[in-house]
Amino acid sequence: MVFKKTTFKYEIAVPFFGFIPDEIMPVWNFYTQNFYLSSYICPECGKLMMKTVFPNDYPFETNDGIKKVPRIFTCGDCKTLHIPAPGYKLSSNNGYYYKAKSDEEFEKIIKKIDKNGSLIGRQNTLYNEN
Ligand SMILES: [Zn+2]
Repeated sequence: MVFKKTTFKYEIAVPFFGFIPDEIMPVWNFYTQNFYLSSYICPECGKLMMKTVFPNDYPFETNDGIKKVPRIFTCGDCKTLHIPAPGYKLSSNNGYYYKAKSDEEFEKIIKKIDKNGSLIGRQNTLYNEN
């Protein structure tokens, strides 16, 4: 899994209250413990992405070498993973992404990341800037 420099422009969902509008309802077919709703919408399909936070910056291999990042965003519909560049927000549009080649590969990646991720410090807020 080698992440590529992103070509996407990331956007924050328009705030909503009480329920998630159908058109941005995230697709999440996994049982995970450490993923939760992010405020970013998937640049490919427009659904809300899920995220997890790493207790310690977690290394991913990219075209520019290993990048250690505090969080990762993912779309269960497009099976794409998005990381910010270290020290930046995802919306800085200078991060990296990886698109899984199959459902099986995506599930394997998600399970592994779920083991390393956490909800710490973010579980009481639906909207986090990054
Ligand atoms: Zn998507």
